[in-house]
Amino acid sequence: MAESSMLAFIHRDQAYPAKRAAAERAHDFAEISSAWAEPEALAQAARCSQCGVPFCQVHCPLQNNIPDWLLLAAEGRLEEAYQLSAATSTMPEICGRICPQDRLCEGSCVIEQSGHGAVTIGAVEKFLTDTAWERGWVAPLVPGAPSGQSVGIIGAGPAGLTAAELLRQQGHDIHVYDRHDRAGGLLTYGIPGFKLEKAVVMRRIARLEAGGIRFHLRTEVGRDVGFATLRARHDAVLIATGVYRAREAGVPGASRPGVVRALDYLIASNRKGFGDKVPGFDSGALNATGRRVVVVGGGDTAMDCVRTAVRQGARSVTCLYRRDRANMPGSVREVAYAEEEGVLFEWLAAPVAFEGDGADGPVTAVRVQRMRLGAADASGRRLPEPEANTQFTLAADLVIEALGFDAEDLPTAFAAPDLAVTRWGTIRTAGGFRTSLPGVFAAGDIVRGASLVVWAMREARDAAAEIQHYLATAASRGAKEAA
Ligand code: FAD
Ligand code: SF4
Ligand code: SF4
Repeated sequence: MAESSMLAFIHRDQAYPAKRAAAERAHDFAEISSAWAEPEALAQAARCSQCGVPFCQVHCPLQNNIPDWLLLAAEGRLEEAYQLSAATSTMPEICGRICPQDRLCEGSCVIEQSGHGAVTIGAVEKFLTDTAWERGWVAPLVPGAPSGQSVGIIGAGPAGLTAAELLRQQGHDIHVYDRHDRAGGLLTYGIPGFKLEKAVVMRRIARLEAGGIRFHLRTEVGRDVGFATLRARHDAVLIATGVYRAREAGVPGASRPGVVRALDYLIASNRKGFGDKVPGFDSGALNATGRRVVVVGGGDTAMDCVRTAVRQGARSVTCLYRRDRANMPGSVREVAYAEEEGVLFEWLAAPVAFEGDGADGPVTAVRVQRMRLGAADASGRRLPEPEANTQFTLAADLVIEALGFDAEDLPTAFAAPDLAVTRWGTIRTAGGFRTSLPGVFAAGDIVRGASLVVWAMREARDAAAEIQHYLATAASRGAKEAA
């Protein structure tokens, strides 16, 4: 039954959808949370206090109109609530699943700050859009009146997909180029199914295709097609290529068999989930089954690796992180899930060598240095430093390096030396995500550095608005010249 009033946080506790038991979920790649029944979602939405200044909305990168859709949801007006949430987001059900809400909307919820436990905004958002898909409320993508202009988008991750949808609505021909054989970027091949089931991503892509967006897959720009060719072919180009250059621990033994990169490992696992033939996995090189796995790193990628290894049936899984739990970049929630699933954490521990027989035999152990937190650096973060005489050895036959990503060298890859980049290799943009090249825009991780899906979507939304302005100006200039 619909709630008639809000402010239910006074008498109703915070609740998230029930999680499957760790022992059960550690054997499959299905999402770990079960779906809410409607009364539970409505009851949780009604906990919102309808703040005059909604800090949840301020701290949502998309500035989603959270209090209003919570009110509509609490009143049982689910279709209207969904429409409102979809007005500012191209994929609310994906954000509801994988945004680190504790650092964004929910972390800033006023009732969280008052000690009552945040409104479970992400779970309500997921419920609304999953319900919309089930009940047929997600409208097809309708292209605007044909503009006669086309946009080439490089990269089919959340940034590229968001820009594609918004620009298609403006009537442009949209061509998305991606080097993978499936669209979705890290939604498809990075993030594991236990956080985001692949069918959820694929139905979004199918909707874009049905709306006339053309996907050119297995097409690497700079190799299969030139960047200059795309600039000549399209009226505007958006670079949304993400960041893929893996950082390495830089310790001896990194080239031993059994030492692998996080994304190679996760891509192989995700491909197996699609039923693909994956030689690297089938040979055992990228498969944790029966192995003693050590993952190096403390971010979300490391958490995805440890939890994937558990599901593949690893003999043991240990995560090494050079700072402590409180200073870990990964989501607190993901660490807790990993612990529930049996992952061991070695805090304040950094690898100093990957050991094995001879100079190039397979890895058999990780030599580990115990660390402590020293003085803070310029950013205020305390730097880890070695603790004297505290090295130890961990047996390992699969070591996964998950230390983050930097930008690839795009000016070289694209043969575009005039494409300005920052000292980190990310693309330098002026206001409105314009690059140094006329008609070329950029958004997502390739601008911001490794970040979040919701930020990629936000930047793509802003970049699409700027591209629309650029194309409209170009069209009116063309019309004037023709007159
Ligand atoms: P991407 O998603 O990286 O997409 C870029 C696309 O460009 C890729 O498909 C790539 O194949 C393509 N491409 C690159 N170069 C070329 C080229 N030359 N030619 C053609 N195509 C090219 N964020 C969250 O919010 N929540 C999470 O839980 C989360 N978990 C993560 C887990 C992992 C393992 C990783 C690695 C990241 C995670 N992130 C998470 C971060 C998030 O996935 C990224 O911030 C987001 O996907 C960036 O979107 P994007 O569109 O900029 O780039
Ligand atoms: Fe919260 Fe992310 Fe949804 Fe914004 S998009 S409301 S930050 S879950
Ligand atoms: Fe509701 Fe929390 Fe947002 Fe306030 S901050 S409007 S209580 S969700």
